[in-house]
Amino acid sequence: MSEQSLQGDPASPSVGRWRRVVLKISGEALASAASDETIDAATVGRLAKEIATSCSELGTEMAVVVGGGNIWRGTTGAGEGMDRAASDTMGMLGTVINALALQDALERAGQPTRVLSAVQMAQVCEPYIRRRALRHLEKGRVVILAAGMGSPYFTTDTPAALRAAEIEAEVIMKGTHSGVDGVYSADPRVEPDAVRYERIGFMDVISQDLRVMDMTAIAFCRDNQIPILVFDIMQPGNVRAALAGEQIGTLIS
Ligand code: UDP
Repeated sequence: MSEQSLQGDPASPSVGRWRRVVLKISGEALASAASDETIDAATVGRLAKEIATSCSELGTEMAVVVGGGNIWRGTTGAGEGMDRAASDTMGMLGTVINALALQDALERAGQPTRVLSAVQMAQVCEPYIRRRALRHLEKGRVVILAAGMGSPYFTTDTPAALRAAEIEAEVIMKGTHSGVDGVYSADPRVEPDAVRYERIGFMDVISQDLRVMDMTAIAFCRDNQIPILVFDIMQPGNVRAALAGEQIGTLIS
């Protein structure tokens, strides 16, 4: 990652700082504390509008990796004695449900999309094929990546990192939904004196065991020099600010 591409083109202020991004959205960011629904239509609609408007105004190419934690996590079933691979497969299928909800909301907001799944589901969406993903991005479609890696024993953080490398995204944007708006020296919900870092190195995140993303994903991003922006995705306006390269959240690089 050259410093040039990190900073974008200052002569074109209307072009977002980041040209191509992977946005990682946890399943729980599609739910709402205010409703019992697994997927809250108002929450998904708000997020979709913000993504659609920001990508079109800033010219950003975006692939979204959706999680499935609002529906099922492999560790939940495994903790109760289920076969881990079967339980993880249920989790992957949950991400497809979320992907379809996000697709619907994005298209209603006027944003063309394609869902590409790592588990083939020919009647529902396209299979993940790297070159096809690139073509969709070039055509201005938001690519929604479902079913993670297609393999058990991972969470969706790791496919977010892998796909970012494959499609040559400049950054992974990890949207948080817990009210914690970046990487802190300690959990700010437990320790009020914790400080938020504006920038932090991969090695510090690893050595201090700061749990912002799965360590497999962090190590992959370090090895492949893919920066990660951690920011609060539930705060209206933050998706645009993140894409525009404004100083929000924490940049791990
Ligand atoms: N999963 C998997 N392989 C993958 C991605 C996800 O087996 O490559 C399963 C895993 O069980 C995980 C679940 O899908 O718990 C949902 O994904 P994740 O926990 O990442 O969802 P999030 O927390 O982001 O909502």
